Formats: sequence, structure tokens, C-alpha cells
Amino acid sequence: MHSLSYERARDVPHAIELARQPGSKFIGGGTNLLDLYKSGIEQPVRLVDVSRLALSAIDELPDGGLRIGAMASNTAVANHPLVRARYRLLSDALLNGASAQLRNMATVGGNLLQRTRCYYFTDPAFSHCNKRDPGSGCDAIDGYNRIHAILGASPHCIATNPSDMNVALAALDAVVHLQGPNGVRQVAIADFHRLPEDRPQDDSVIAAGELIVAVELPPPAFQATHYLKVRDRASYAFALVSVAAAVAFDGAPGERIVRDARIVLGGVAHKPWRAVEAENALRGKALSDEVLAKAGAAAVAGAHAYPDNAFKVELAQRAVVRALQNAAHASNEGGAA
Ligand code: SF4
Repeated sequence: MHSLSYERARDVPHAIELARQPGSKFIGGGTNLLDLYKSGIEQPVRLVDVSRLALSAIDELPDGGLRIGAMASNTAVANHPLVRARYRLLSDALLNGASAQLRNMATVGGNLLQRTRCYYFTDPAFSHCNKRDPGSGCDAIDGYNRIHAILGASPHCIATNPSDMNVALAALDAVVHLQGPNGVRQVAIADFHRLPEDRPQDDSVIAAGELIVAVELPPPAFQATHYLKVRDRASYAFALVSVAAAVAFDGAPGERIVRDARIVLGGVAHKPWRAVEAENALRGKALSDEVLAKAGAAAVAGAHAYPDNAFKVELAQRAVVRALQNAAHASNEGGAA
């Protein structure tokens, strides 16, 4: 029988102290960890409950940015007036994820760390999974790989990051604030999640015993944004492909030229996939059909498909074009970014 202890942390230093015991896991909303625990994928020896720490505030920063406590629920963030008004992209991405009940429980910190939904990872009946059991192989590569990666995968793992929130945070240049046994540090969201390489067991760069305490967003920099999620059913499904598009324009309406852009794809890689070449294809240009098509093609440059997910390559291109069109249309209509 697996033995497990439970401790409720009084404050952040206490949580970090409790987590020094090897095999400890922090638990917030528990929406992902408890599923994995029940199926035997995660086997912590100590659960450190951080759900009641004073880490749920959402505060405006002096520079006009936003600090979101790691224990803020996905619902609280999605519905917060400042998020709705200034970071609509984040609100829309969150509301595209999971269900209302799950969003009420799930936290920002937990969402950043949620694990892949690769069938071969979540079902312990499959014995070859380098993410679950390093060195055991990868059943997905020669198995059914419809939901798997087309970008940035490795021979060791072709899983995808399942989060919608993470895709929006990557487009908004978020910074993750961590506190652990060795002090505090900040990690840009682009550097927080990892590609699988030869260590797919590590989804992110978070160290043992480190706790996510907050996420900070810089002041809003884009007047047109859109989150597009393509999935098998209209709700409560993970993305086959998603796109967070954010565009800043120069010029008067009707003559607008792209000054800066962010295009980040979800459902296609082990981490939110920032399509830098697609962004470059937009800068200094008007959003003509030709420019949009070039951006879509650039977004999937270097893609490698597997037998069941080749459809994702064209789907991702089309999703990039549609997300940019929707963002531009909403800003023309005066919609908030
Ligand atoms: Fe495991 Fe990754 Fe292969 Fe899925 S794709 S079976 S998570 S190693």
C-alpha cells in the first residue's frame, strides 16, 4: 500500500520547509495531481497543501502591469475586471479551458504545471513512456498519435502541453516568480516550459522544492488579440491546435501596419510554441491575405508529422490566419484587446 502524509502550510517559507522531504508535492486545486495520483502516475509521499496561502491576490503593478498570485483560481483570473479590460487574451484562453467546475478549483500555479494528456502517459497499462519512466521508450511514436506534437518533438517524447492559459501567457510575455530552498528567482515564460529533448520527464525548469508564487504580466502592448482553439467538441476538450495572436499596429484604421506581433501555438509542441518567423513575416506589413498566408506557413516551418496527426500542419496554418483575422476585426470594431 502506498503511504501518504498530508500537511497544510502556514505560509510560503513553511511550505518550502515542508517540501524538503524527498517525494513531496505541493497541492493547490488538485485538479490534475489527484487524477494522476489515483491512477498511480504520481506517487508523492507527502502532500503539502498550499491552497490556503495568501497567494491569490490580483494586483495592478506601478508600471501598469499585473501581478497574479499563484493560488488565484482560473475563474477568478478570467473574470477579473483588469484582466477582462487589459488582457482579454488571457481571459478568453482560460474560459476556453476545462469546465466551470474545474476552473473554480484550478489555480494559476497548477495550470502552469499541468501535465500532458498523452494517452500513453496517463494510462499506466502502457509500459513505454519516457516521461513517466525515463528510459522505457515511447509508445506514442509508433502508436496512435493524433493529439501529439508536430513541432519541437524528440525521439524520446512527442507529447504536447495541454494548457490554454500557458499559450496566452507566452503571447503576453509573462514572467513566472518562484521561491524555493535557494531563494527567489524569476523565469520568463518562454524559458519556463521545456522541449522534451532527452529529458521528457521534466516539463519545466522548476527545481525540486520550488513553489510558483506569482505570474507577472508587463503593461499591455497589443491593441488586437485573439485566442482561437480548435478541438474535437465545443467544450471540455483539449486543443488539437490553438493560437494566441497579439498585434500592435501603427497608422490610422484602414492603413494599419503591424509594428509588433506575438503568435503562439498550443497543442502542437511540448511547450507553448512561439512562432517567431511568423511574427517576423508580419512586422512592417499590412495584414493582407498574402501576408497572412506567409505568416501561417512560417508558423509551421520545420513541422514533423506522425501518421495520425499530419492534419495538424495545415490546421495550424489556417488557425494562425483565422486568429490574426479575428484579432484585427475585433480591434477594427473597437473590441478590447
Ligand atoms: Fe510518454 Fe511522451 Fe511518449 Fe507520450 S509521447 S508515451 S508522454 S514519452
